[in-house]
Amino acid sequence: MDDAEENKAVGRGSTGPPVTQLSLAPFKLVTEETRATILGTLASYQAENPHDSGIGFNELREAAGIGDSGKFNYHLDKLQPAYVKQTESGYALTNAGVSLVGTLRAGVGAETVRGPETLDAACSICDTELTVRYEDAILSVSCENDHSDPRDYLPPRAVDGRTLQEAVSLQKRRTMHDCEFIREGVCPACFDDVECKYTVLDAPQASHVLVATCEGCGRVSGSPLGMYLLREPPVVAFYHDHGVDVTETPLWTLDLVIAEPTLRSEDPLQLSLSVERDGEQLTLVVDEAHNCSTVSVLGSTDIPGCTPRSPRQSVSNCSQCLRGRGLSLTTR
Ligand SMILES: [Zn+2]
Ligand SMILES: [Zn+2]
Repeated sequence: MDDAEENKAVGRGSTGPPVTQLSLAPFKLVTEETRATILGTLASYQAENPHDSGIGFNELREAAGIGDSGKFNYHLDKLQPAYVKQTESGYALTNAGVSLVGTLRAGVGAETVRGPETLDAACSICDTELTVRYEDAILSVSCENDHSDPRDYLPPRAVDGRTLQEAVSLQKRRTMHDCEFIREGVCPACFDDVECKYTVLDAPQASHVLVATCEGCGRVSGSPLGMYLLREPPVVAFYHDHGVDVTETPLWTLDLVIAEPTLRSEDPLQLSLSVERDGEQLTLVVDEAHNCSTVSVLGSTDIPGCTPRSPRQSVSNCSQCLRGRGLSLTTR
């Protein structure tokens, strides 16, 4: 493959190999020290001069510390158009260039180990102290009985210079973002299609999970159903009404994440999840397509005269509750 073909083969819509088969072309473009230096220099320049649209040829060469102009020109040319673009004022990274530098800067293969550190929180199953640990690029929160709360990949740069508590907060935001992508059927790593399978684990809580497998990069992730609903407007509003900011609150204190759903219908599959705060209950229904509807926001089940048959199944069927407090029924 010549250089022109190498450049063309970068990307999903190229005429290169099928997307599931990785092409060597993007790697070959950067597996040379001078090219890596140029990419790093361009990134540093953009960070220091965010309002400049590019850096001139000689200025870039000097900043990169490359004395041989011909050699510099040769390698700079190889990086175009995939990773470097030419602007009116010189050279700059393309979006793919920024993305590549970002991945490398975030840390690949760095052996950072941190913790364990105790968190000011208790396990929702056994009530023992929760600890956080970072190893093998995995940030995990668990208790002494190995009940695992969030556990997910986080690149080393996310932990460098931050407390593990701050890293836990970052990881949570990233997981929420990933779950939004997965609900849309899109892989948060490579933007290919993901296949989602509803799975029930043999676990004491958060056992109903949606496992997403990417058809492109093979990324596999699993999160409890409630995790995918945290950004639903009724959920955000419900928690907000009860003084909880779902974006700031640790996952282990959000009962929706560990809530066990009840089956509403097998065909089509519909599951209902309920959470309670200060005597008010929010009930959500999720269907096979991961659509979520708010079935009810009701007052306490202990309204005088109301005897629900069971805490979960009862409320949306209980005529006394429906009469007793305002019912908000929205279906999207
Ligand atoms: Zn525990
Ligand atoms: Zn993927």
